[in-house]
Amino acid sequence: MLKPPELLKIELMANGMKITEKAKNELTRGGKIPLSLFEYATTSGIPLQFHNTNIFINSHFAEGFCKNAKAVLDFNDNSFSLNFEGKSIRVESIPLPSYFDKKNKKGKEYGWFAMTHTDRVRISPIAGCSFSCQFCDLSYSSKYKKRDVNNFIESIEIALEDPILPAKHILISGGNPLPKDEKYIDRVYKKIIKSFDEPVDIMMVARKDINYVDELYSWGVNELSVNLELFNQEIAGKLIIGKNKISQQGYFNFLKRAVEVFGKNNVRSILLIGLEPIEDTLKGVEALSKIGVSPVLSPFQPSPKTPLSQVPPPNKNQLIEAYEKSLEIVKKWGVKLGPKCIPCHHNTLTFPDGSEFYEYTK
Ligand code: SF4
Repeated sequence: MLKPPELLKIELMANGMKITEKAKNELTRGGKIPLSLFEYATTSGIPLQFHNTNIFINSHFAEGFCKNAKAVLDFNDNSFSLNFEGKSIRVESIPLPSYFDKKNKKGKEYGWFAMTHTDRVRISPIAGCSFSCQFCDLSYSSKYKKRDVNNFIESIEIALEDPILPAKHILISGGNPLPKDEKYIDRVYKKIIKSFDEPVDIMMVARKDINYVDELYSWGVNELSVNLELFNQEIAGKLIIGKNKISQQGYFNFLKRAVEVFGKNNVRSILLIGLEPIEDTLKGVEALSKIGVSPVLSPFQPSPKTPLSQVPPPNKNQLIEAYEKSLEIVKKWGVKLGPKCIPCHHNTLTFPDGSEFYEYTK
């Protein structure tokens, strides 16, 4: 049975929130900083933690689907609260890192190369993407381009030492490289892993050569995220442009090898909720769990720059159904819904269950 803060997180994922002027003033330090950086569809809201809980949410507030939001973020007596249906639940706001608008010696903002959300700093070695999935703004917002790895090293150092929001672990994601740039991305992976003691996770598209998994492991990758996104092949064929060239079977071959090498529960895969019937998403949860992969439920959020900008996100009941049924499935196969990192739940439909699986990176 879902608890009140869990239900409120789901409400925010479905409908977003409004923000009072007092809360806006506090979040922006009187208008000196932006409310949000809007730099990625699933991280462009306001990160909050429900007071005295391990529940995190990155709540949308500006997109069209938030215009009818019923939850309101307020600030009174030195604390933030979410008011919804006559009840008020205290929350803490998670600030922007202090480096977000600072520039390196070449005059480029560090935030251009790295960005911290809750406790994770993410870098994107490829701007744009060699694919163009209809729900993802990467290929619609930037031209495909390789970025210089040295800028990443410097920006990650800044992020790890940030006085306001120090990052604890590193995620390398971003656009998929063209085949000719795969060697470049491999060099980036190796260089970043060698340069830092903090765990480095990689989010990537499956490669046809499953032995690549063994290489990633030998370089010291902490965990892998290889995202299926959709399970219904007909819908995937229309929405996942490029990525579907690697067949679903190809994905599962890669994921199976990843579990053999990295171990059960150390490999995760995102499934989007809301772009295919829930039964198909649940079939995906089952297929992933069966081979020891942690499914990550990610509610679809329409991004203004994409062809799906007018498609509404899944409603609250769909999210509850997807979550509760997925929980039964993962339990049956002895896996958990990912990710393990508790603050990284901010943009996924995941709740810690008190087990040691869910953790904070030290
Ligand atoms: S492959 Fe990944 S990064 Fe590239 S467009 Fe698709 S979802 Fe976005």
